[in-house]
Amino acid sequence: MEPVLTSIDAARTRVLAACAPLPAQPVPVGIALDRVLAVDVQAVADVPGFVNSAMDGFAVQAGASTRTLPIVGEARAGAPAGAAVGAGEAVRISTGAPLPDGADAVIPLEQAHEADGHVTFAAGVVPGQHVRQAGEDLHAGATVLRAGTRLGPAELGAAVAAGAGELVCARRPRVAVLCTGDELRPPGAALAPGEIHNSNAATLAALATRAGAEVVAAQAVADDPAATARAFAAALETADVVLASGGVSVGPHDHVKGALDALGVEQRFWRVDLQPGKPTWFGTRAGQLVFGLPGNPVSSFVTFVLFARPALLALQGAQPLPTRVDAVLSVDVPRRNREQALRVRLEQRDGVLHATPNGAQGSHLGSSLVGADALAFVPPGDGTLAAGATVSVEPI
Ligand code: AMP
Ligand code: MG
Repeated sequence: MEPVLTSIDAARTRVLAACAPLPAQPVPVGIALDRVLAVDVQAVADVPGFVNSAMDGFAVQAGASTRTLPIVGEARAGAPAGAAVGAGEAVRISTGAPLPDGADAVIPLEQAHEADGHVTFAAGVVPGQHVRQAGEDLHAGATVLRAGTRLGPAELGAAVAAGAGELVCARRPRVAVLCTGDELRPPGAALAPGEIHNSNAATLAALATRAGAEVVAAQAVADDPAATARAFAAALETADVVLASGGVSVGPHDHVKGALDALGVEQRFWRVDLQPGKPTWFGTRAGQLVFGLPGNPVSSFVTFVLFARPALLALQGAQPLPTRVDAVLSVDVPRRNREQALRVRLEQRDGVLHATPNGAQGSHLGSSLVGADALAFVPPGDGTLAAGATVSVEPI
């Protein structure tokens, strides 16, 4: 009898229901890149904090006509002028220097002629010209970044400008990667007959890191019930999330589900209406999450993207699911009895997004992932989905 398969959406819903945000901690801005904010950031003071010059030039009191004025001082960035500017005076000023008291405009160097300690301006100037007002960027107390924001370069700069030295961020999820299989050998190792290199450990650790996790272990374990149980027990001592690969099918050497059951990890779903990735298993123990991803490299990658990445993001308080967009299929695709997640390249042509399968789609063909931009979803059915059909796609 065909097993009952969980839909992709239902599986995601169950994963996200199990994700409570991890505790927050202060993080110095210098190491906060890619962390997720746990609380809003407000400007400590006005930004800019003082009225200042937008140009290198001369600070003056605004006036309508051509004038020649004595230069009575200088204001530099970080070094305000010592005295105020009177009606018939000019103060040399640099970009970013505080506008001296008395002045209300700046005349750029390019419009000034300097001789014998005096400066002549060819034209008049209106109040506020080339002056940056305090608070023009941010007013004190204004929210500059919202909780749930992933901190990129622009966000870090805005936070520092707003006065922050530390940012309160969710703790990074601790992830243990556990690859099952007697056949697995480390990267670069010589292979005996029947052995393969453990490519999933490298890929899953990298995917988890990119999703903001701290990878605390990435190892292989033999297809042996006791060894599998020991490896999961050790992983669950420290990890918030265990990413396992392989050993979740129905073969005589698949020991993952049994080991997890014995360790009190409760199954939330097993087997998804998805190709590749049908055997995917998910369970929880208190707040800990365990993903039993299929061993085939494409399947483990795709199921990480569909189920584990949203969990890692949700644990950090970030938006877990990417926005789906529509694309036009550029070739015929055979339908199957399960929903397919094709690895596709995306191309914008004539204002339309086109999705092209990135090479052969077998779940053992890891090279179909290299250079792929997105997953395109093909609903189950008979026959083919013809070129020109609209499919929804999700970025990888
Ligand atoms: P399994 O899910 O354990 O039945 O494995 C399915 C297929 O994936 C088999 O061909 C395995 O050799 C392969 N496989 C399992 N684990 C890995 C891994 N860590 N890296 C690369 N291939 C793997
Ligand atoms: Mg196996």
